[in-house]
Amino acid sequence: MQNGLSRRKKTIRDIDVRERRVLVRADFNVPLDADGAIADDTRIRASLPTIRYLCERGARVILCSHLDRPDGVVVERLRLALVANRLSVLLDRPVAALQDCVGPEVEGTVAGMNNGDVVLLENLRFHPEEKVDDPVFAANLAGLADIYVDDAFGVSHRAHASVVGVPEHLPAVAGLLLEKEVDTFTRILEDPERPFAAAIGGAKVSDKLAVLEHVISRVDLLLIGGGMAATFFASRGYGTGRSRVETDSLDAVRDLEAKAAERGVRLLLPRDVVVAEKLEPGVPVRVVPSTAIPDDRIVADIGPGAADEFCRALAGSRTVVWNGPMGVFEVPEFAEGTRRIAAALATLRGTTVIGGGSTADAVGMFGLADEMTHVSTGGGAALAMLAGKPLPGVEALDDAGDP
Ligand code: ADP
Ligand code: MG
Repeated sequence: MQNGLSRRKKTIRDIDVRERRVLVRADFNVPLDADGAIADDTRIRASLPTIRYLCERGARVILCSHLDRPDGVVVERLRLALVANRLSVLLDRPVAALQDCVGPEVEGTVAGMNNGDVVLLENLRFHPEEKVDDPVFAANLAGLADIYVDDAFGVSHRAHASVVGVPEHLPAVAGLLLEKEVDTFTRILEDPERPFAAAIGGAKVSDKLAVLEHVISRVDLLLIGGGMAATFFASRGYGTGRSRVETDSLDAVRDLEAKAAERGVRLLLPRDVVVAEKLEPGVPVRVVPSTAIPDDRIVADIGPGAADEFCRALAGSRTVVWNGPMGVFEVPEFAEGTRRIAAALATLRGTTVIGGGSTADAVGMFGLADEMTHVSTGGGAALAMLAGKPLPGVEALDDAGDP
């Protein structure tokens, strides 16, 4: 790709890894079910190309990751042994799970590794130093290896020790997943096949303002759904019942509509909505025009008329990025709008990119993940890219031109 990450930063293809100890920051932050088992191993699978690439070339692969939020202490159910087990099945080779991520025992194990071996360090966030980018902790992690590879797109927007501290000490390059994620978002933002559409939803407009402000100057079509549509309704003077309206964002939303008009961007709000008294299963629901939301109701989903209009508008697009569900899709009564958009993207002949944790969950729930061009493994990092913000994890890597 012309303006791909590899033009700017080194990747694993640029270095010789044979016999080298390679510390790979991966994102194994997988969801766990109630029994503590891995509920979805998508993120583990997404890291396989980089791990296989390194093993096949005779590197000694030292994997590290966080899992969930242990808040700086050891939490037994958040040990990475369960990830190591799954990895070893997927890779068809042993993956040793270590009891810590730094210290003499870890150093001893690493010293005994052979070419092609894979070990997985313990949950980085068992140490409070990880999240505050403690320099000693970063230096100790770096001391385990000769080369650092960042393949953890999901945390590349965080200035944590394993993301930005370690690369200060070692040659630092991008892994294949990080490269693919960054290149996907860069391409759609900088050189999309047109027409280019963005569908933005989710609960809060304040979470999405930076994204909306960045994409408005790039897209041809902007669809607004989710709870945040209520703030757009309020800015137009419609009644919004008991829906959450973010009064601090009203001016920003008005500016967005003005900018869309100025630039000839087609901005669509849902023409109708599903409303309910509560955002809970089993409550009675009604479809009403967006201009006639009853005083005692909350907007819970886009309506069928809006879904029809959104799907028709999307059908003409060649590139679509989607962030934020159209409704409270976790509740079956309010999932239809999100399902309709997912189905429209699944059949679209063009590039479809899903960014956002809940949006990816929704697409997975409908069984449509494989029909998309790309489902991002990062929520916050995808938002940062869509907002045009630099990722600290990427910036910390060696420049392509470095010796
Ligand atoms: P993502 O993780 O994909 O970026 P967000 O975190 O912005 O998405 O939003 C996801 C949440 O938005 C979901 O939990 C969903 O229930 C909620 N949501 C969607 N529509 C509404 C609505 N009308 N009212 C309240 N919450 C909503
Ligand atoms: Mg979210």
